[in-house]
Amino acid sequence: MSELIKLSAAELGRRLAAKEVSAVEVATAHLDRIEAVEGKVHAFLHVDREGALEAARAADARLAKGEAAGPLDGVPIGVKDVITTRGVPTTAGSKILEGWRPPYDATITTRLREAGLVMVGKTNMDEFAMGSSTEYSAYGPTYNPWDTTRIPGGSGGGSAAAVAAYEAPLAIGTDTGGSIRQPAAVTGTVGAKPTYGGTSRYGLIAFSSSLDTPGPCARTVEDAALLHAVIGGHDPRDSTSIPQPVPDVVAAARLGATGDLSGVRLGLVKEFAGEGAEPGVAAAYRESIDALVKLGAEVVEVSCPSFKFALPAYYLIAPSECSSNLARFDGVRYGLRTGDNGKHSLEEVMSLTRDAGFGPEVKRRIILGTYALSAGYYDAYYGQAQKVRTLITRDFTAAFEAADVLVAPTTPFVAFPLGSRTSDPYQMYLADLYTIPSNLYGGPAISVPAGLSEGLPVGLQIMAPTMADDRMYRVAAALESALPPLTPPAL
Ligand code: GLN
Repeated sequence: MSELIKLSAAELGRRLAAKEVSAVEVATAHLDRIEAVEGKVHAFLHVDREGALEAARAADARLAKGEAAGPLDGVPIGVKDVITTRGVPTTAGSKILEGWRPPYDATITTRLREAGLVMVGKTNMDEFAMGSSTEYSAYGPTYNPWDTTRIPGGSGGGSAAAVAAYEAPLAIGTDTGGSIRQPAAVTGTVGAKPTYGGTSRYGLIAFSSSLDTPGPCARTVEDAALLHAVIGGHDPRDSTSIPQPVPDVVAAARLGATGDLSGVRLGLVKEFAGEGAEPGVAAAYRESIDALVKLGAEVVEVSCPSFKFALPAYYLIAPSECSSNLARFDGVRYGLRTGDNGKHSLEEVMSLTRDAGFGPEVKRRIILGTYALSAGYYDAYYGQAQKVRTLITRDFTAAFEAADVLVAPTTPFVAFPLGSRTSDPYQMYLADLYTIPSNLYGGPAISVPAGLSEGLPVGLQIMAPTMADDRMYRVAAALESALPPLTPPAL
């Protein structure tokens, strides 16, 4: 096994720029690792060996001339399969898009290419990003590198597992209700949800448009910040993109790594202080707060009484938006078409295609969302949920008067055994109890490793006000500097 796969993206970038190693060598080391462990992990739906080597050769040509495209030029990356990549299969984990090769790149993909990153493949995910375990992928689950009998989180389990298993130092995830942070927590990695609108949704296959947020997955806070800086910033192709530069997240991560948090006020969310969390998770949470206090942070307790309504509000808003967004998968425009044999009407072909192409969780959400939006029920369900969303935003605004960042566990429990929650949707939904509020509000949030519980990783979540993404990186990097690094057992 090559030592290269254990290096951070920042370190790989430095060695590449210094020509101590070539991008082709770095890409080959990761592609070989993928080949060696994918039978156990299944983090990828598609590995693009040829495309990666071609991109690596182009990086080497730039680096040879001393014309690096940025600090991550030549560094490998995995991209969640919900982001379009021109000519490279993109399925969103669904049978309905099997074999679809997008004719265009998402803005995220374009920015990765322009920064010289080398895409090694597309990562596994719950179908259309709906789920918390990657067990709802139509192509089989991903396995947690810490214990392959357990889930890697979801919906972005493939991205988190790829990073944890040293298949790539970086990956792209998307977070609608927790799908970057929750997998990061249960795989001992770092995952950040930027401010909504801080990263472009152009070319991201839509689940819930008012919540969907692409962001970075990495093994270190600095790496996550470096990737965030590459993908973030205004995109005129996304009408909800914020026309302002991303705060200097890289500088903030480096400042945090010095281990000084004096003057920083941590708001402990009373309603989430261990409530509903497993004892081991609650203990790791308390220890990480103690570590932050030792670095000089000041602790204040804040109350966010509306957070308890976040989960039910989310499970009306997200299905409502998805029922509309997924209407485009009709057997006419993309991927799968079933029943087109001259014996069925157009409407029958659409319905046969959707029946064959969507899995049970996606169908459950479309039905729920269609119902919640229907005349006569709209005010009672969708309208109410939108009001709750306003209350949650008010809770955040009030809490940020007293505190610079809010902290809570990322998840109530560590990685659970495969199959243990698939028969009860509510048990699956509970995995996002702590992550959903910041999606409804729109502010940034990050999960950073916070120790182990019974040998499995726990994450601390740090939430910041909208457009103050730098603050969460500072606190996350400080915690990282104070705790011993987490290394998964050898696969
Ligand atoms: N687990 C949540 C859901 O199933 C969140 C998914 C996400 O963030 N994409 O909707």
